[in-house]
Amino acid sequence: MQIKKLFSESIKLKDEEKVQFRHYFITENLNRMKSMGVLFIFVLIFYEILLLINFLPNNNIPHYVLLSVLALLIVGQVLIRTISKSKSWKLKQLLTEVTYYTLLVLAIIYTYMMFRNNTPDFALFFVVLFILDMAMLDSPYKTVPKIIGSYVILIILLYTTSKSYFGYSHLFTSMAFIIMCVFSCIASFNNQKVLYIEKTEHKNASERDQLTGLNNRRKIDEVLSMHTKEWQPISILMIDIDFFKKINDTYGHQQGDDVLVQLGQVIKGHLRTSDIAGRWGGEEFVIICNATNSKQARMLAERLRVKISSHDFGNNIRVNVSIGVCEMQDKDTIVQIIGLADKALYYAKENGRNRIDWIDRTTDEVTK
Ligand code: GH3
Ligand code: MG
Ligand code: MG
Repeated sequence: MQIKKLFSESIKLKDEEKVQFRHYFITENLNRMKSMGVLFIFVLIFYEILLLINFLPNNNIPHYVLLSVLALLIVGQVLIRTISKSKSWKLKQLLTEVTYYTLLVLAIIYTYMMFRNNTPDFALFFVVLFILDMAMLDSPYKTVPKIIGSYVILIILLYTTSKSYFGYSHLFTSMAFIIMCVFSCIASFNNQKVLYIEKTEHKNASERDQLTGLNNRRKIDEVLSMHTKEWQPISILMIDIDFFKKINDTYGHQQGDDVLVQLGQVIKGHLRTSDIAGRWGGEEFVIICNATNSKQARMLAERLRVKISSHDFGNNIRVNVSIGVCEMQDKDTIVQIIGLADKALYYAKENGRNRIDWIDRTTDEVTK
């Protein structure tokens, strides 16, 4: 049952999840390449030292081969570490492909040379193939042709040039290994997929407000802390329902909850795709407006205020909101920016409610 699940085709991702999953496993592959590369570099250096002090006699790997592989690994490491910082997923994917094929071709050449030198041995080819496919996970539609293709090329090469050293026993043992390799790659890819789905589901759940389905305070904090590091005009809207206690008192807490849910939907329906809305707590909501200056944010806030006050919440319930607006500046911390939006909101409450007020960033006081 467990094995069946590992190969199951039923683990399907939605289109937008597919792209994210792709990015996830490219990142994971690069991370694995980083750590494994360092490990191999140390192993090779250790091996080279053992050779130099004659601890390993009768070796048949010449020094220049060992040193050139070592140099290749070091260059590869520098490349991986540089490119993994880049933002281009295509470039990252290209790097993993190039690394994959380079190592595979080297393994094929090495094995071919072994057979030509009368030391028929598949071991290195299999080890490299197995490690590559386990470390650089990709969709089985891509890995399986790679595994079988490289094996067929090697067999044809050996069969046509070193027929005398190449027997049926080689063919059968190697085939068994290839079958094992194919199955383990499919299983570990699907395993990764399951892990990914569990991880993202868990992450999404921990970032949502249970009542309204909007982002929760924790997520808003996270988004804000990321934004403080990069500059673009960003504005914050702090929204608070006017006299919400009265709704609870008049219609009951349940109905109050329903108003909050509906308000969440109204806000969501009104936002642009780049805006991020969340429930800050109680009956307060926050909207982070990307690439929006104070003037544009005020216009958005005003439209939202009008929209909310004209919305029918059922049972003839109408609610108004007060909104505090503040444009973010590069040096602002989360506490400061929220504090300023709160200050504008407090002013709106003090001055009649059902209105918007905003902060003048030259004085950090409410614009009168
Ligand atoms: P104003 O903001 O205009 O000053 O008046 P208000 O009545 O909204 O004031 P206040 O912020 O003091 O009250 C908020 C109320 O919101 C208090 C609390 O009972 C209610 N509330 C907070 N969270 C929830 C919730 O999750 N569900 C419901 N139904 N009510 C909530
Ligand atoms: Mg409140
Ligand atoms: Mg209130």
